[in-house]
Formats: sequence, structure tokens, C-alpha cells
Amino acid sequence: MTSATIDTVTTNTLQPEIVTQARAVEQLVLGQATSDGDGVKLTRVLTQGLQYRLDPYLMLDAFGTDDPQDYIGGFPDHPHRGFETITYMLTGRMRHHDSAGNEGLLQNGGVQWMTAGRGVIHSELPEQEDGRMEGFQLWLNLSAKDKMIAPWYKDIQSDSIPQFTTPDGATVRVIAGASHGVKGAMQRDVTEPLYLDLHLEDGAVFLQAMAASMNAFVYVYRGELQIGEKAVPQQRMAILRNEAHSDGVILRANGPSRALLIAGQPLKETIVQYGPFVMNSQAEIFQAINDFRAGKLAA
Ligand code: FE
Repeated sequence: MTSATIDTVTTNTLQPEIVTQARAVEQLVLGQATSDGDGVKLTRVLTQGLQYRLDPYLMLDAFGTDDPQDYIGGFPDHPHRGFETITYMLTGRMRHHDSAGNEGLLQNGGVQWMTAGRGVIHSELPEQEDGRMEGFQLWLNLSAKDKMIAPWYKDIQSDSIPQFTTPDGATVRVIAGASHGVKGAMQRDVTEPLYLDLHLEDGAVFLQAMAASMNAFVYVYRGELQIGEKAVPQQRMAILRNEAHSDGVILRANGPSRALLIAGQPLKETIVQYGPFVMNSQAEIFQAINDFRAGKLAA
């Protein structure tokens, strides 16, 4: 994985993260095998039952397969309202079309950040008939005041994602937020999302400061991490405990490992989800369904 930005972010310009009271692991979660769209097989890591615990995040799906039958159907036209979808493609190619006339190709190492806002109808279809497809889709909630904003999206190619390697053997891709003084590809106020993809050498240690008020989790997709006393094996999500005195997290790699570290400020609002609509009340959900049926979501 190379990047134009890796040359400009040298280790001597990095600002070390200071963590004196690291968060412990509260709970390990094993994802649930499911399928979505037109028969796409995936693992739902962050499920609906964890939405309040991991507020402002609503969902995390992991997909990874060499079998085209598991992904070829893709996600034909479907609506969204009330939140943002962040798709991170490690390997593979997916084409995106939406009702606002946007089109983009998401591929190896790239991210698509889409704000559904008041509504979008889109499709996400593989642009490959064989080979590996692997990546993640994360749903980030919008605050009540932002749920009906205009839809928006951005394709972020792999070489536009800031990346650096620490002296401790951690290579970090900063998708959102900031780490070691390096600003990520996306910044958002209100929820202040932090989204890091970490590639750790065996024994590497990675520190990340974060406010105690944030909800945070780590998803290990290769190898194994050690967080405090707890080993976090592959395909497990570790929910990090919220403690008033904590100021960050310290991760250590038990062998070569890769993981997502995700955190954000909770919205502390009522969450009502009906499939692809996430609003604050049942009445707003009925409105979304009615608007969709009336063809008003694609306006
Ligand atoms: Fe979608």
C-alpha cells in the first residue's frame, strides 16, 4: 500500500499521542453472518442492539470473500435517510450510482463517504466478476438537526488518504479525524468521527488519545491485538470501556495484525431505525416511508 502522502508525512513531524490512562475492553463481540442487498454475504459486526452503546455509530458490516457468488448481486437501487454511510474498500471494485446523478468507482484502498441526509436512492454494484472483494461499511448517525440536510457524497481515492508509519511499527491510514497530528481525509463536527485503519508489525504498540466522552471500538480483521489484559482475536470487535478518567487507548500487536479503530461523540438522541431509514421518532419513519413511496426521496 503506497500513498502520495506517505512521503510528506515523515516520522519526525509526527506528534506522539499521550495516553496515561488507557481504556480497558468492556466486551468482545463476534459478528453475525448475514446477507443484504441482492444476496451479498457479509458479517454484521455492529448490530442494532449496540446502537445506543456505540452511539453515534449504527452499523458496521465486514465483507471479504474470493467467491463471486457471495458478492456478484451487489446492492441494487435502495433508499437511505437520516445518516451517513462510509464504505472502505480494501480490495475490489464497486460502482456507485445515485438519484442525485452522482456516479463513482470505489476501489482498492478507497473510501466513499455518503451523507444520505433527507434522502437518496442509490445502487452499489461490483465491477468485477471474479477475484477478491473485501471491505467495510460503517453507518454514522446524523444529529436531529442534520437528518434532513441535502444529500452529499465524496469518493476518496486511496492515495488521498493520509498515511504514516510510527517508529513503533504501526502504519496508520487516517480516514477521519486525526492521529499523531495528521489530519484525516474527512473531518466532521458534532460526532467528531475518528476512523483509523491500522497495520501493525508483530509487537508494534499504537497509542491514540481520545476524549473520555467518546464511544470507541476496535475491529480486528487480521491477526490479534492485545488491549490491556485482553487479547482481541481476528474477527472480533472490542468495545472500549468509557471511564471518566481515561484519555485514550493502547494497542499491542500479538503478531502482524490489522484493525479498525473507530470512535465518535455520542448524539444521545432517540434512535428509530426501519431498514435503511434512521430517524428520531416513529412519525419520522412513517414520513420517510411515505416520501419514498411518493417518489420524494430521490428529489
Ligand atoms: Fe446503501
